[in-house]
Amino acid sequence: MRGEFDFIKQIRGRYSLGEIGDDCAVIPKNSEYDQVITADMLVEDVDFRLKWTTPEFIGHKSLAVSLSDLAAMGAEPKWAMLSLAVPEKVWASDFLDRFYAGWQTLAGEFGVELIGGDVSRSPDRLIIDSIAGGDVPRGKAFMRSGAKPGDAVFVTGTLGSAAGGLKLLELGEHLKGEVGDGTRRLLLSQLKPFPALRESALLRSLGIPTAMIDISDGLAADLRHICEQSGVGARIDCDLLPIDPALTERFGAEQAREFALGGGEDFELLFTVDEKTFPSEGIPGIARIGIITPKIGEVEFFCDGTAIIPWLSGFRHF
Ligand code: ADP
Ligand code: MG
Repeated sequence: MRGEFDFIKQIRGRYSLGEIGDDCAVIPKNSEYDQVITADMLVEDVDFRLKWTTPEFIGHKSLAVSLSDLAAMGAEPKWAMLSLAVPEKVWASDFLDRFYAGWQTLAGEFGVELIGGDVSRSPDRLIIDSIAGGDVPRGKAFMRSGAKPGDAVFVTGTLGSAAGGLKLLELGEHLKGEVGDGTRRLLLSQLKPFPALRESALLRSLGIPTAMIDISDGLAADLRHICEQSGVGARIDCDLLPIDPALTERFGAEQAREFALGGGEDFELLFTVDEKTFPSEGIPGIARIGIITPKIGEVEFFCDGTAIIPWLSGFRHF
């Protein structure tokens, strides 16, 4: 049976003129700007569980996943639309007021305006469809397709925390009561991810990424997207992966590394840069993890000098 990524490739081949395939579609706006637009869907019991989270967190995350795609293009967010299919029991509760409160707090932080949406009834599960748009200087959107052999590979933040947080939720842990700071960070990475818009704005002002994507499917899968669309390969040094010490403390070094390589939903930025253009003093919070190679489509991971095949838990719907 065809997988999710093959399906998208087929759709692109049959029905699109080329817009499909990056984190956002890029549409010319005026002489100064292009407009970028992204759509994401969150389905109850597939993408979130009501018993593990709060309405405010779901509202936040619904927007955060879209803002992360705008960040991946180097765009400034402007507007969003929100469509909801709501089961009767959710409609009858205070869920939606709390959901919108969580959504609006994040929207307000980045000046995102809610410009529309739709409401429908759902037989049993809540479904959220989030669309967001923003502006990027004309012709300057960071695409997945610009990586060149010799470019260095960088990531923002830390990797694997969201997958670790999900594992802790599956094990019955939660934010209520006494939770250590490290465990709280892991749980919040999963429940309330923060889009890397500030890092994206910095990279846009420096103008240095040759390719960029946000890590929603896991480092290994998303790096593969950059390599396939750029016609290059990559070699990653596992010892350079930025991992929260709390992840190692809770799960051990080996599983923490697996989460960092294969776990999804970190919503950090993964990008490539011609090292000659990278500030020599470095950028705080940004780690160099490897290099782009000319071996088309080959993504290699070296841990302690040995090549490994990463465990790919990064979420796929099909
Ligand atoms: P992301 O993880 O960045 O949100 P996806 O893996 O969801 O990206 O999607 C990859 C690309 O495929 C995007 O350009 C997206 O717009 C497109 N896409 C996803 N699903 C569909 C669909 N059902 N029809 C058309 N395009 C789609
Ligand atoms: Mg994306």
